Amino acid sequence: MNPRRMSRPVQIGRTTIGGGAPIVVQSMTKTDTRDIMSTIAQIKELEDYGCELVRVAVPDAEAAGAIRDIKKSVSIPIIADIHFDFRLALKALEAGCDGLRLNPGNISDPEKVSTIVKKAKERNVPIRIGVNAGSLPEAGNRSLTIAEQMVNAALQQVRLLESLDFDLIKVSLKAFDVPATIQAYQMIAQKISYPLHIGITEAGPPRTGVIRSTAGISTLLYLGIGDTIRVSLTAHPREEVSAGYEILKSLNLRQHGPVLVSCPSCGRTEVNLVELAGAVEKELARIDKPIKVAVMGCVVNGPGEARDADIGIACGKGRGVLFKKGKKLRTIEEKDFLAALMSEVEDMTG
Ligand code: SF4
Repeated sequence: MNPRRMSRPVQIGRTTIGGGAPIVVQSMTKTDTRDIMSTIAQIKELEDYGCELVRVAVPDAEAAGAIRDIKKSVSIPIIADIHFDFRLALKALEAGCDGLRLNPGNISDPEKVSTIVKKAKERNVPIRIGVNAGSLPEAGNRSLTIAEQMVNAALQQVRLLESLDFDLIKVSLKAFDVPATIQAYQMIAQKISYPLHIGITEAGPPRTGVIRSTAGISTLLYLGIGDTIRVSLTAHPREEVSAGYEILKSLNLRQHGPVLVSCPSCGRTEVNLVELAGAVEKELARIDKPIKVAVMGCVVNGPGEARDADIGIACGKGRGVLFKKGKKLRTIEEKDFLAALMSEVEDMTG
């Protein structure tokens, strides 16, 4: 794994992005921002799942104003997602947003951008230059690759913000195409030192979207690129947060909640392992402390993995051996597997 690219830190509310800070997991609400109560409820749920930064859509002035009330009831920083109308950015800043996301594809007029930047600077509010392959600036050079066009669009706006003496900048370059996205981030990582928000846009529903996002985000993280991630899914945003942490845990970049090791099961398995692993995964979703749990189907790899975990079970015919911190605890009947495992997990994390 490459060493992490050293980026300059940007402070967004209580959260630091870049500069060697832990890679931040973020998401975006799917409620109507004008529906303040529903938006607060969804953000609180995301906070419980470990979301560290949340973006809300700002389609009109009422949504921009709603940020003021939403902020009173939530703890994580709120980013206002602005498109087309620069005045919405001004209203969101007045309402106390912690960060702005601007899309150079639909707000590019230097005068309008500079009005936003002036106000953001007064309030010390960072701006993400969020380029999306689906909304590249009209003036872009179509003979270039998508990756090159995205990089150019971002650099143009970076230079504009720098000319206004503004450096609270984050950048993202998202496309649905994974290789194009990776190329774009590799290119821009050589050219600027601002923190990078990484993700694959419009990745789809969870079954395919998590895989597509993981292919892109993990490759970049392995290359040392990325300071904050968002897994974009056509699903409840809690799925985005869970998937984000799973990616970071898989690369040993963050610890967050349990890790479940389970074998795929095979012709040797003599218990209902698929059902057991599914039930354990569901139960573990409510645990927020780091713990490694192993659910193994037989004696081939079972005792080794179960011993290596904080708590594990190696199953045999209708029975299983429970291991805790490498030591054999006892033999249990299949009907007691779930309860016994979870009771040990509760003991260790409670
Ligand atoms: Fe099959 Fe045993 Fe390997 Fe599980 S641990 S996949 S049951 S051989």
